[in-house]
Amino acid sequence: MNDPLSPFYTVIETMKEKGLYNTIRTIESPQGAWLVINSTKVLNFCSNNYLGLASDKRLSNAAIQAVKKWGIGNGAVRAISGTNALHIKLEEKLAKFKKVESAIVLQSGYVANIVAIQTIMGKEDIVISDELNHASIIDAIRLAQISNKFIYKHNDMKELEMRLEEAKKLQKTPRSDGGKRLILIVTDGVFSMDGDIAPMDKIVALAKKYNAITMVDDAHGEGILGSHGRGIVDHFHLHGQVDIEVGTFSKAFGVIGGAIAGKRELIEYYRQKGRPFLFSTGLSIPATAAMIECVQVLTESDTLVKKVWNNAMYLKKGFQKLGFDTGRSETPITPVMIGDENKAKEFSAKLFEHKVYATPIKFPMVPLGKARIRVMPSAAHEKKDLDFGLKVFATVGKELGII
Ligand SMILES: *Cc1c(COP(=O)(O)O)cnc(C)c1O
Repeated sequence: MNDPLSPFYTVIETMKEKGLYNTIRTIESPQGAWLVINSTKVLNFCSNNYLGLASDKRLSNAAIQAVKKWGIGNGAVRAISGTNALHIKLEEKLAKFKKVESAIVLQSGYVANIVAIQTIMGKEDIVISDELNHASIIDAIRLAQISNKFIYKHNDMKELEMRLEEAKKLQKTPRSDGGKRLILIVTDGVFSMDGDIAPMDKIVALAKKYNAITMVDDAHGEGILGSHGRGIVDHFHLHGQVDIEVGTFSKAFGVIGGAIAGKRELIEYYRQKGRPFLFSTGLSIPATAAMIECVQVLTESDTLVKKVWNNAMYLKKGFQKLGFDTGRSETPITPVMIGDENKAKEFSAKLFEHKVYATPIKFPMVPLGKARIRVMPSAAHEKKDLDFGLKVFATVGKELGII
């Protein structure tokens, strides 16, 4: 009999032939400055573990203690019998940390974006989105089936205002239910391919002018921007002025999960209506306990936040001294520009031969001809680790004629 799934197997074969097949490496060690891959120690320049918290003993111990006390399973979705005191404690602690009225904890950053957009936006509403926004925002917009979708050039406030003008015109026609069409401006806080920051102050000002809602996905800004890593809203002192703040626990916070922070009534609405909240079991007990500890650690001290920044500055200066171009980064995310797609791939492979693990970022993730190696420093790195990385980049850079 013919296998109806066979077209997919053919795709895999074609991907392998074209060199597009994604070989996923297996990590044989905890997350940290170094990783073990194929029984070999390699310098880790590609995790989002900015603060080194993914293997922090305080967080792991909190998780172990919680499992001993509470067991492992939540038992049900949060709306039935699966909301435990840990969830509530984390939501309260997180809201306090981020200086917002309220927060809702979800299963991941991806899910948080889905809840944030799909729950309040419908077909006839209007979304205005930065062209470089994360895939989970794009998926959330698709899931909400919003037909009035405007994309503006990356961080281009002139174009954003033009789109707002168009949106205002559209708004003159009410929705078929008689309601006024919502206008949502959505942006990443820190853009993960370039490490640049969204001009939230300007976005908020434009939103006020056009009576639009603002949403920021701060996956790469939390733990990095603002005092003690409170995120982009704190960085721009915009407390209470950004309607929807989405975050992830899987990057700087070192755990897993996601959250939406904002006004009490809006978060309440998400609790009542958010489908992934109602129909999918909530964050696990160990993850929730580890996150409570994480927020505590960050509230008490900004040592790790300072360290990742110091490391990033040291590394960027090092790259620039060697003659590399580190693009438009304003955060620890450090793109090392290569240009040609194949050269970036070769560069990364050679780095790996020299025991440095840093991934190439190529089209379609970035424009054609703008391929790069993305270097992710963390607070887990020491100067000697960074020096080792710089030395290897210098060797490979000369070998491939980049510097
Ligand atoms: C990683 C990331 C997400 C997804 O977060 P998860 O918690 O891993 O689901 C969402 N948005 C942005 C901008 C991200 O970088």
